[in-house]
Amino acid sequence: MEFNYYLPTRIVFGRGALEKNAATIALGKRAFIVTGKSSGRVSGALGDAIEALEKCGAEYDVFEGIGNNPELEQCYDAGTAARRFKADFIVGIGGGSPLDASKAVAAFAANDMTPDDIFKNTFENGVLPIFAIPTTSGTGSEVTPWSVMTYHKMRTKRSFGCTLTFPRVALLDPKYTDSLPLDVTRSTSMDAFEHCFESVISKKASPFTDAGNFYALGEFGRLMKQLEDGEVDSLRDMMMLISMIGGTTIAHTGTTLMHAMGYPLTYFHGIPHGTANAMVMPVYMKVVRRFKPERLNAALSALGMSYGELEAYLMRNYPLTVHPDDADVDLWAEQAAVQGATLNTGIPCDKESLKEIFAMLK
Ligand code: NAP
Ligand code: FE
Repeated sequence: MEFNYYLPTRIVFGRGALEKNAATIALGKRAFIVTGKSSGRVSGALGDAIEALEKCGAEYDVFEGIGNNPELEQCYDAGTAARRFKADFIVGIGGGSPLDASKAVAAFAANDMTPDDIFKNTFENGVLPIFAIPTTSGTGSEVTPWSVMTYHKMRTKRSFGCTLTFPRVALLDPKYTDSLPLDVTRSTSMDAFEHCFESVISKKASPFTDAGNFYALGEFGRLMKQLEDGEVDSLRDMMMLISMIGGTTIAHTGTTLMHAMGYPLTYFHGIPHGTANAMVMPVYMKVVRRFKPERLNAALSALGMSYGELEAYLMRNYPLTVHPDDADVDLWAEQAAVQGATLNTGIPCDKESLKEIFAMLK
């Protein structure tokens, strides 16, 4: 048995967490806040963060308006604004999009580089410290080093991240997710589940990541009926915990082929991230059953569901609404063949094998 585990993020969890731990936000003297169009305000997290910063005597500036599936160019512009403000730390507030953007902003603010340089993952001047406040329960971005951005040059999404881009503090208050609309709750909750499921399948899975994933999958299995019935108010706290645990595990195992298959559905068809993955999951399960049946069974048994029950749940709630033609299959397979997520799966992932898999979505 061999593994490495490194998680340099301090985790503060609970309702009222920021009011009770205001001093944790003072990672410097000048904060640059990065948030979405409305998520910061609607969730109440932006107001609480400003109050905490004022209590600590820190100066701040706010960049409001990070788009969903943030574009590299917008993150670069925000990074330039942070440098102009002479920020010495970043506060990221929102779903995965603003949180991922805050990591890019923290890198651009500290380093004079071109937008594309970020994917080299080496930062001469380091990366500004990040205080992350999630307002969705899905990506776990508050405890991962990963930042996923829309990269038009390659007509897909592309990630960067290294040990420097782990947030310094993750402040999780489930009350910030009370305002989430049902459709976003359904999609983001699936993302949290998918991370735990894929992390079990990943060739980098360890007993340590399994421990988190098996616990989180068990809890998720008990909430699936409520999620399906739209009774989501009572699952907010546990979903935030599941999402965070999934973040800690994918920080070590990465995601797998399911995420790589979901990206083109988001990029070309605008399907929300967690839903896109759920739509391709039945095909993913078929492939994993062929190559890694023991790991698939381990994930299913932690979830408390049979293969058929999970497949039926997915098809009932997240039916595949777009089908690739031959040209799409060719392009999507080519793109997936170079995605880190694909390579983590531990199955044959040359372009020809991937074409066969994508053709199953037709
Ligand atoms: P999101 O794109 O951050 O947000 C989805 C929508 O929900 C937005 O319209 C957002 O509004 C709204 N919203 C967020 N919080 C809200 C709240 N509390 N109340 C009401 N509305 C709220 O969604 P996400 O699923 O959390 O993040 C998806 C992104 O994360 C994708 O780009 C994906 O690739 C990435 N991702 C990253 C990781 C990682 O490890 N870093 C893992 C998986 C996925 P605003 O527009 O106002 O913000
Ligand atoms: Fe994800």
